[in-house]
Amino acid sequence: MKLKRIGSNIILFQLSEVDSNIYLINGDTVVDAGTGFNFPLLKQMFKASKNYFEKVSQVINTHSHFDHIGGDGYFYNATISVHERGAEVLEKADIEKSCADFYDGKLMPRKVAVRLKDGDVIKAGGMELQVIHTPGHTDDSICLFDKKSGIMFTGDTIFADGLGSAKFINSDAGLLKKSLEKISKLNVVQYLPGHGETVEKMGSRRMQTLMKEVGKIETADEDEEEE
Ligand SMILES: [Zn+2]
Repeated sequence: MKLKRIGSNIILFQLSEVDSNIYLINGDTVVDAGTGFNFPLLKQMFKASKNYFEKVSQVINTHSHFDHIGGDGYFYNATISVHERGAEVLEKADIEKSCADFYDGKLMPRKVAVRLKDGDVIKAGGMELQVIHTPGHTDDSICLFDKKSGIMFTGDTIFADGLGSAKFINSDAGLLKKSLEKISKLNVVQYLPGHGETVEKMGSRRMQTLMKEVGKIETADEDEEEE
């Protein structure tokens, strides 16, 4: 478990190996909510940083995998936003597409208030987060980019030390490659992934270096060949 402040306005909460990174912007916006398995710990960490669940007014999910959406319900005053292709996964509690079974998680149906589309802009603190649809890891994956600060939330599309995988039922390695090409051409200073460490400077350069591995993106077919 770890709490890390990023700039003056963002806090990263890391709860466990299975939870996604949880980012809190300006005390009122959450990007990804983890599995929900570690609620008491998250509550304690929020309190320690003088933040409160009831003040969170919006939760944005970078995609509808269980390790990112399982904790959405903890923010009981918040609206839920997810890309339009992921809305049904949340609303129908789709165990297959969310991979809830893999995590032994119980997914509850949840109302989606905002079905995001490429190009939408979400205000969060002083940031204007542009929604960039980046299908590949899943068909509903998005990155969120604040042009002014150069900060990008990348979900499971790209990490500090590697590229996202395309091994799920709604994955597409070809689309992931195109999505990675798209975001690596933007002027990214910091990027904040869905798991692991953050990249604090020269984000675009790191992305372009990682792009050299684009031919090795992990797919489900490869897993089968290995068996
Ligand atoms: Zn994922």
